[in-house]
Amino acid sequence: MGLKFYIETFGCQMNVYDSELVASILKTAGYEQSLNIHKAEILFVNTCAIREKAVERVINKMHQYAHLKVKKGKVKVAGILGCIPQYSSDRLKKELPFIDILSGPDNYDKLPQMINDCLKSKKMQENLVLDKEQNYEDILPFTENKHSVFVTVMRGCNNYCSYCVVPYVRGRERSRSVKSILTEVKNAVSNGVTEVNLLGQNVNSYNSEGMNFAQLLNKVSEVEGLKRLRFATSHPKDISDELIQVMAENPKVCRHLHLPFQAGSNDVLKLMNRGYTREDYLSKIEKIRKLIPDIAITTDIIVGFPDESDEDFEQTLDVMRRSGFDNSFMFIYSERELTHAKKNFKDNVPKKVKAERQKRVIELQKSLSIEQIGSDAGKTKEVLIESVSKKRKNELMGRTEQNRIVIFERTNDVAEGDYVNVLITRAEGLSLFGKIVNNGEGSK
Ligand code: SF4
Repeated sequence: MGLKFYIETFGCQMNVYDSELVASILKTAGYEQSLNIHKAEILFVNTCAIREKAVERVINKMHQYAHLKVKKGKVKVAGILGCIPQYSSDRLKKELPFIDILSGPDNYDKLPQMINDCLKSKKMQENLVLDKEQNYEDILPFTENKHSVFVTVMRGCNNYCSYCVVPYVRGRERSRSVKSILTEVKNAVSNGVTEVNLLGQNVNSYNSEGMNFAQLLNKVSEVEGLKRLRFATSHPKDISDELIQVMAENPKVCRHLHLPFQAGSNDVLKLMNRGYTREDYLSKIEKIRKLIPDIAITTDIIVGFPDESDEDFEQTLDVMRRSGFDNSFMFIYSERELTHAKKNFKDNVPKKVKAERQKRVIELQKSLSIEQIGSDAGKTKEVLIESVSKKRKNELMGRTEQNRIVIFERTNDVAEGDYVNVLITRAEGLSLFGKIVNNGEGSK
């Protein structure tokens, strides 16, 4: 039996997917996955560079694990994967001298060789090449979740939003072939999966063999046995009428759209290099809501970007009110290494002002969430059961196609992965509560 490996993942859904790719690559090479760090001989931390102080966080985490390698000697190979090694390798090597492997996101297929080389030579292995062709076309990721999976359809990004490090650490945008996406989806569905989430930094610019993202959605939806199709993330400048039409007409495409607007002021949007105006964004929202009245829209917002004035910020609140988001990911701006904003703009909005602005967007979002999510009260919604509720063991948790969380009483005749009809009786915070009704088919 091969050595056991353990992977800890930080960051977004794309990183979760990448860890599943790494697990598949290592299993194929004869290693065995362990979900218990204390039983592993190979330890990987898959890192994300989006959050503030990401490097510090990874260094602290690896210090916590150092004893497993340095003192106990159980771990033979310890490595850091993903975005952080891509821009902070010197610091990682200096502060974590016991690290054996540093690999960027385009080199996971080399990991078995790197592990071998490391075990043989006892020397540190590093591969941070950004490979504009790398799509892991022929690798089926390993996942234990039997009803819902992520499938990456493109990697990298060409947009260079001025605050974002992604294009520097994940490289230029490239789309996976339709054939390899379909193979992966069919394989997942044959293993019992009924919901697929197509992922990319900007899925709307997908383009492979002349097929755009709207057409890809239709193609993937033809896979027999697939019930729900989701996708993220969309860029407002690239979301097309064709895609909105597909969302409106294709019953398998879920009525949820994550459409980050980031800031409501045209001056700030320009500094952010987002490529659209507030008017563009609002007119797209209007079009989407007109064609798909029951859609749920979520977003990302940054407050306190360089030079953001009180008037600019008011425009952010205005876009929120007009758009009626279900939920928002609300961030305070902070500088990121390598980015245009860090190099060229002064982080000049005082911390206190940033915090006040964040408080105001959070408060506004709370009231918008109550309004949007609460509108489901009294309706019957189809829910895919995901798990037992975290708070109460006698309750189940699932999601509607709008991606709204629903909590309801657990019964013996349904299980994770089942679709049930739930009558929504009330909303509380970001969750809906209800009871199973008319479970008719109870289909998987
Ligand atoms: S679209 Fe902008 S924010 Fe999103 S990954 Fe690309 S550069 Fe970053």
